[in-house]
Amino acid sequence: MKSEDTQKTENSNDHFASDVVHFDRNLPEVNGAIHYPVHPSTQYTFSSVEELISVFQGKKKGNSPYSRQGTPTTAALEAKLAYIEGGDSAVAFATGMAAIAAVFNTLLKAGDHIVVSKYLFGNTASFFNTLEGFGVLVSRVDASCVDNVIQACTDKTRLVFVETIANPGTQMPDLSAIGDYCEAKNLLYIVDNTILSPYLFQPKRVKASLVIHSLTKSVAGQGQILGGVVVNTGLFDWTKYPHIFEGYRTGDANKWGLMQVRKKGLRDMGATLTSHSAHMISLGLETLAIRMDKSSETALAVARFLNSHPKVSKVHYPMIEEHPSHQQAKALFKAGSWLLSFELDDSEGCLQVVDKLKVFVKATGLGDTRSLIIPVAPTIFWEMGEKKRADMNIEDGLVRISIGLEESSVLIADLEQALS
Ligand SMILES: *Cc1c(COP(=O)(O)O)cnc(C)c1O
Repeated sequence: MKSEDTQKTENSNDHFASDVVHFDRNLPEVNGAIHYPVHPSTQYTFSSVEELISVFQGKKKGNSPYSRQGTPTTAALEAKLAYIEGGDSAVAFATGMAAIAAVFNTLLKAGDHIVVSKYLFGNTASFFNTLEGFGVLVSRVDASCVDNVIQACTDKTRLVFVETIANPGTQMPDLSAIGDYCEAKNLLYIVDNTILSPYLFQPKRVKASLVIHSLTKSVAGQGQILGGVVVNTGLFDWTKYPHIFEGYRTGDANKWGLMQVRKKGLRDMGATLTSHSAHMISLGLETLAIRMDKSSETALAVARFLNSHPKVSKVHYPMIEEHPSHQQAKALFKAGSWLLSFELDDSEGCLQVVDKLKVFVKATGLGDTRSLIIPVAPTIFWEMGEKKRADMNIEDGLVRISIGLEESSVLIADLEQALS
């Protein structure tokens, strides 16, 4: 089945897990398998040459003739992800960065202007530097206040890009107000929802046009597979977007944007998700709801513990009252997810604390089954230099945690001994 066939559905959290584990029943039956199978073939044949031609010309739906544009297995995953984000279609990629790069590389041209949050995943921030080299103008703003976004916009602005919860500082953009502004101005509103996952929040609720995920994190959830996706929510009117190539301005206009992202981004650029990876991600997705409930509950307990510890100067977690966007987070998100960070005034001491931990794994990466911890400034944010770090509020003593599936009592005891 092609993801394009899925219908927009109101997805309520009350039956999220049931919907996900039974989703394969909406797909064509294959040998009675109750789990949708893995299709490793790199090319697909058709019952007649007419059908082959019709599929090539986009006049008929069918398997992608060559797997660089997707396979039945990646299409099954795309359909499931589109459904749980409340969208109408999706395109999967080899990694989250591949999805991000494909969206911007295929929808923008030199001379365009974009507005992005200044608090972004480091590699995404680095990608925007590259994009500037191709003649796209980039404004980086504190998106927690919509006025900063509005002031940055020009008549060349095509889109606004934010992360629902920024890594590692957990800053939040003014999600609803930016959505209203983008709708009024006909701007694409692109939201990276990696940290929350569609189980905790659907950006469609704040009028996002496209939702991006690194599937590597919440969705796969095992720390063993890379993937990315972009979902079209169906809210954006693609007939008003100036850069859709003539060949893709045909058929259902809701599909134009992602058709271009698939053709130009997958077919021409080639960062394709394999069927095996898609299958692994589908397995992870089946346990998303219970993992997110559990790791969010643990993260809140750990954040509260750190917040009350005398040696900890700051804790960043949206579900504690001190967080500047706490009210918004409580109103919009089912829970706070597994990402938190904290600061010690003594940045040397912070390295010692990390070193003394026995349960937390000293590693980069997010959304694993194990809790991971990393001092941010000397590692993942090292390359950008001191000035940029200061701009992004990355203090020398900032430590990032990704909470796994361990008991909160075990993690808190570990932190307690390391801090003492
Ligand atoms: C990890 C991450 C990405 C990049 O995803 P990869 O799968 O590692 O390429 C993008 N955005 C956010 C918010 C991330 O955490």
